[in-house]
Amino acid sequence: MRCPVCDNSARDHTPSEFHGIVVSCATCGNYDIADEYLDELRALETAGRLEVLRKAKQFAKFARPSINRHCFKCGYSP
Ligand SMILES: [Zn+2]
Repeated sequence: MRCPVCDNSARDHTPSEFHGIVVSCATCGNYDIADEYLDELRALETAGRLEVLRKAKQFAKFARPSINRHCFKCGYSP
């Protein structure tokens, strides 16, 4: 699969019951993103996507970052 944040090749670690994707990317690390935010993420420029992931990591502290509403909200303005 392609990493939806940086577009490099990444591994898909999505469990079957998860409504979204769990990504393992060499560049971005491990994170997950719900289905409903995938399109929203893809609509952003790379810099915006990185910013969203950065926010997710900030919120998650040491857990696996999860890209959700919060990451977009207080987010990035071009
Ligand atoms: Zn990536």
